[in-house]
Amino acid sequence: MVITRISNQPATPPPTDTTGNTPGTHASVSPYEAPMIASPLRKDAFELSDEDKIAKIEGHFQEIMRTLGLDMTDDSLKGTPKRVAKMFVKEIFGGLNPANYPKISLFENKYQYRRMLVERDIPLYSFCEHHFLPIYGKAHVAYIPNGKVIGLSKLNRIVEHFARRPQVQERLTIQIANELRRVLGVEDVAVYIDAQHMCVQARGVQHHHAGTATAEYGGKFLNEHTRNEFLQAIKA
Ligand SMILES: [Zn+2]
Repeated sequence: MVITRISNQPATPPPTDTTGNTPGTHASVSPYEAPMIASPLRKDAFELSDEDKIAKIEGHFQEIMRTLGLDMTDDSLKGTPKRVAKMFVKEIFGGLNPANYPKISLFENKYQYRRMLVERDIPLYSFCEHHFLPIYGKAHVAYIPNGKVIGLSKLNRIVEHFARRPQVQERLTIQIANELRRVLGVEDVAVYIDAQHMCVQARGVQHHHAGTATAEYGGKFLNEHTRNEFLQAIKA
């Protein structure tokens, strides 16, 4: 039985003090509210419709390709600007828009399950905001339920939503953890991301096997024993 639906609407931003810090606990803070970990969006970010954004980006991308010297009348190239623009707005950066936040359903924890739940090996595809090149790897998330449990695939959807933005892996990790805290109403959450960055592998230093691991732990996961149980589970 579904008992709660989580709103995709950002709540009114809480007041900030002069240092820019938001008072209050993590548990009550939406990712859209917390300025330190929110993706850097302008206030007018959603004034243009998706269709208007696609048309604008198509024109700009065509200009980039033309500047590179490409013949934009070529059969194989002429559809690319539109294809890229649609992909940016509707797919790979669709997570910028709160309107695309997934429907989240929570269920009553009737079974009184009080142990850790680990959702491991969630495929992760994001894009580095410094080079607009892919970040790909795996996310592992866990929580210890209290009164409510979440539909398992919703954990994957939350990861996907925040990954579909120009990102840095550190911010992505914290945004996912904070969203789990908000949605589940518990502090006991863990997020571990192991990813490869194409901007490190395919250009610059070209270190093909370099990987980047990031983690965020809250509540009981700050306890070494609980954290080790999680780290063992994601290795299994
Ligand atoms: Zn990069």
